[in-house]
Amino acid sequence: MLVRQPTSESNAAGTISTLNKTVPFGNPRQLSLDFSTGPSLKATPAEFIALRARQIPILFVRNPRARRYIIRLRRDGSARVTIPRGGSAAEARRFAERNVTWLEQQLHALPRRHQPPAKLTIGSEVLFRGDLVKIEADVTGPGALLRLGDETITFLDPDTDLRPAVEAHLRRIAARELPRKVYEYATKHNLTVRKVTVRNQRSRWGSCSRRAAISLNWRLIQTPPFVSNYVVVHELMHLRQMNHSPRFWAEVERAFPDYKTAVHWLKTHAVLIR
Ligand SMILES: [Zn+2]
Repeated sequence: MLVRQPTSESNAAGTISTLNKTVPFGNPRQLSLDFSTGPSLKATPAEFIALRARQIPILFVRNPRARRYIIRLRRDGSARVTIPRGGSAAEARRFAERNVTWLEQQLHALPRRHQPPAKLTIGSEVLFRGDLVKIEADVTGPGALLRLGDETITFLDPDTDLRPAVEAHLRRIAARELPRKVYEYATKHNLTVRKVTVRNQRSRWGSCSRRAAISLNWRLIQTPPFVSNYVVVHELMHLRQMNHSPRFWAEVERAFPDYKTAVHWLKTHAVLIR
């Protein structure tokens, strides 16, 4: 299973994941913590652009060093337009409109651009709670063993791709542990969570809806505990601030003073999590 690497534009805003409907910025129904999201938001608020069959989020980013308008489709399926020095948002929007066919083509090509997931075999290393753990041959039998702390996963046929079994196991651990963590932090911060789901999101760590439903990426079980704690706190703080405003980040900082270390970890290690 492939996890997207963070995109190079580290200050991209978190995208609003309500794709089927234009929602005014500042009042999204759900906010997500994308792999590329960080606390410095120089981009303009998320908007949408209509393609033939759907709308995708579009982000306009000013770059004084750019000499022309640039459009690209990001791995998360959103578009990004660079506005050069002296350029205008209106012209950037027209530029994007002229390129919808190209965007459509890029969107179709997106799944093919992802490399097939790397196979896991004996000797492969898997990230678990921030540590790289090696899959070893089982000396007691014909299979392979993966020891993840107290957890042992036994594979009967070590010659097959071990990834599905490893991921299924990690996902079970995540489903057991992550919701508990959410409720613990919610209690600590006097917040009410209606529902927690652990999912297999392709490019986001978590999201929080206006209806207090939090969903988390099972791969958070692969990150160090302080990182998954941060993501949980990040989503919970959206119950106070449904945006990524300075006030939101102030809430995060109050609840999780060292959050920048976690943000940095996510930016630099996302590539390992697959
Ligand atoms: Zn967020």
